Amino acid sequence: MENFIVSARKYRPATFETVVGQHHITGTLKNAIKNNQLAQAFLFCGPRGVGKTTCARILAKTINCTNLTAEQEACGTCESCISFQTGHSFNFHELDAASNNSVDDIRSLIDQVRIPPQAGKYKIYIIDEVHMLSANAFNAFLKTLEEPPSYAIFILATTEKHKILPTILSRCQIFDFNRIQVDDISGHLNKIAQRENISVEADGLHIIAQKADGGLRDALSMFDQIVSYTNKNLTYKSVIDNLNILDYDYYFKLTQYLNTTDVSNSLILFDEILNNGFDGNNFINGLANHLRNLLVAKDPQTTKLLEVSETIKQKYITQSQQTPVSFILTALNLANQCDLNYKNSKNQRLQVELSLIKMCHIPSVLQLAQPNGNSATDEDQIKKKTNLSSAAPSKPAVQEFANNITSAPVDSTETVQKIPQQESKPLPVVPQPLHDQPKNTPPIPLTNPAPTAKIALNNNANAKISTLIPSLTDLERRAEEEENDGPKYITGEAREAFTYEQLMFYWNQYATKAKEDNKINVYTLLTSSDPVLDSPEEVTVHVEHKIQEGQLQDEMIDFLNFLRPRLKNFHLTIKSKQVARAVVNRLYTNVEKYQYLIEKNPKLEEMRKRFNLDVNS
Ligand SMILES: [Zn+2]
Repeated sequence: MENFIVSARKYRPATFETVVGQHHITGTLKNAIKNNQLAQAFLFCGPRGVGKTTCARILAKTINCTNLTAEQEACGTCESCISFQTGHSFNFHELDAASNNSVDDIRSLIDQVRIPPQAGKYKIYIIDEVHMLSANAFNAFLKTLEEPPSYAIFILATTEKHKILPTILSRCQIFDFNRIQVDDISGHLNKIAQRENISVEADGLHIIAQKADGGLRDALSMFDQIVSYTNKNLTYKSVIDNLNILDYDYYFKLTQYLNTTDVSNSLILFDEILNNGFDGNNFINGLANHLRNLLVAKDPQTTKLLEVSETIKQKYITQSQQTPVSFILTALNLANQCDLNYKNSKNQRLQVELSLIKMCHIPSVLQLAQPNGNSATDEDQIKKKTNLSSAAPSKPAVQEFANNITSAPVDSTETVQKIPQQESKPLPVVPQPLHDQPKNTPPIPLTNPAPTAKIALNNNANAKISTLIPSLTDLERRAEEEENDGPKYITGEAREAFTYEQLMFYWNQYATKAKEDNKINVYTLLTSSDPVLDSPEEVTVHVEHKIQEGQLQDEMIDFLNFLRPRLKNFHLTIKSKQVARAVVNRLYTNVEKYQYLIEKNPKLEEMRKRFNLDVNS
């Protein structure tokens, strides 16, 4: 059997030049060696596996080399270099503070420091994970760090700089190691593959590099694992199977479905993803990232922010050309909302499905928003001054950009007094004297809302970007307004007295009808508590919250049109009164449970209507 040496060890860089992705650090160290200005204590900070220990080893080897090259690199052939390379040098000591963090461990290290090097000029002490040292150990070490012997050099390495005491920080020269770029990692893996005669696909290496999140050591161990598993044939497919990564293709396919209002295929695809063992939250985050990539691919200037291989980059550019910016932004926003709500959701699968369904309806909603009925194309977006290239193309900017489309739009030309969201639907004008109005009816706006879709204007002068994309809620409301072209109150002369029993007879009749019509929330509203007849013509309904109040207002015209002729009194009014529910009710029936869910997420009702679903009572 072939002796397989772990790549991380076999290909550990031996010179500063070959360290991957930390040129700012290796350059500084080489200069310090050249000018003989080497500090005696260093603090190497940075994530795991980015080359801190490697750089420490190279530094130790280089400053002890008796035959430095012109580039300030170790020769690799002198006695000292060879002893370093074979691991037999006595001038290099490594202490892992994660497992040796007691005062005794530090004392034995300090004892060693007292002994000068037998060969070579310097003794190097590296203390890994130095933040794990106990407070006492830290104090014991401080004295040595303050007055080290001239031949001793300390390199403290940590992944958590903020845990290092200021007294230590002030005595060290600090180097911050970067996460290594995806391209650097995949390039390095490619070099190893060539030397080892391993056949690789560039897309596969890119996935490994991405998954490693800047850590070369992690990337190498994933690489080793997959190479041995696939018998030296590393393909894109083998990588995503091994690392349990969602294939890009899923997202490309899904975006196509969403963009063509293909609800069924979107839901089936999501089901397939769940069946493959992926988590809904990962999926929605991946989708958000995919949408972000599409946005970034819109502009040649920002395509370099795509950390993907060349073939996949081309796919992104192609799909982004077929997808309007307004769609991407709205979908991105829905994905973010889903991510925020996911953890608290009792039905997480539904949470994701609901978001997908909403995304499917974005194209039709956007179509409604266009005055000429055409779907929003990129050119339209550009006409609306949505210039992505002028915006700072960073992630936070994109986020801010997306947030703008849901924040309640403030039309700078609008003079109507701002009224709460729940009641902002314009009420039909009631053909009655004003004093007969129910007392709690919100004021009727004096002017109608602007005939065109309300457009989000960015009033914040400091904001770098302004967007003219209509908000989804606005568009939905407008679509609704267009649908119901103003039902009116029936008027009449009759004004007969009626009894409470008569009222309740028709009241319950209407409630039953509402239930039959699948208006579950109206049914619940009318039957959860008995109405109160305050005066001969005024009925009060007890509601528990604003949402129910809104539901009552929505139903008011139909309800009064039902009651007034039957009770032969056209002066009958109904008002609502908000009361706190005294006892916390357990949810027994499906109707109650559903009612509870709608209160949590009113969009559920919309979905139920669109799919014509029933709630089993
Ligand atoms: Zn040497």
